[in-house]
Amino acid sequence: MGGNAVITLKTGREISLMRDAGRIAAQALLAVGEKIRPGVTTWELDRVANQFIKSCGAEPTFLGYNNFPASACVSVNSEVIHGLPSKKRVLREGDLVSVDLGATYHGYIGDTAYTFPVGQLPQEAAALRETTWEALLAGIAKALPGGKIGDIGAAVQDLCEARGCSVVRSYTGHGVGRAMHEDPSVPNFGTAGKGLKLRAGMTIAIEPMVNAGRNHVTVLPDGWTVVTRDGSLSAHMEHTIAITNNGPVILTEA
Ligand code: MG
Repeated sequence: MGGNAVITLKTGREISLMRDAGRIAAQALLAVGEKIRPGVTTWELDRVANQFIKSCGAEPTFLGYNNFPASACVSVNSEVIHGLPSKKRVLREGDLVSVDLGATYHGYIGDTAYTFPVGQLPQEAAALRETTWEALLAGIAKALPGGKIGDIGAAVQDLCEARGCSVVRSYTGHGVGRAMHEDPSVPNFGTAGKGLKLRAGMTIAIEPMVNAGRNHVTVLPDGWTVVTRDGSLSAHMEHTIAITNNGPVILTEA
């Protein structure tokens, strides 16, 4: 963070290992997505993530991270991120469910999130989901050598605010590699042309957290679940990417 960021640039070989980890994480997310329907609990989704990742010979990165008790964060509707899977939390038709997970494979990490619809979404939820996905892609498109970290944040923020949504500021994307959270911090807001210079070999997680209402969030008494303060809907999409001389490469694709 700030002026003391310690950026670890990855070699081509390391990026290739991260691609392997990222593929497992992406496939785990698809496996979770196949289970999503009204009546399923968020605990069951976590079980799918855990079992899928382990079946690939990888480790669920989130399990035990800062004592997090699950392999996936499952955040529903006004929950933004870090939702704790629970046997009591049953998905209902029209819910927005954000699933965030990581896989560690041969020492490297892939970190990815996707907001799924549960059945048919109300219009506002569908629009928020679409905006968040487009914001992620807009941010990734700015992850170019010679650019600045603010280029990414500005692209995400501008797209979201033009649609009447807001971006969460108190949580950000991040560098990722051997550790889940490396420098630099990758905010979803900012000014184009400002901030840290982007270089080939940087591997970062870009992860817009987008609220239908205001940007303020708070943490529930469980100590984990981050919710919108105004109760508005939230969505979260994330890819781990590598910045290369050929442009951004998404590492968390199936
Ligand atoms: Mg992340």
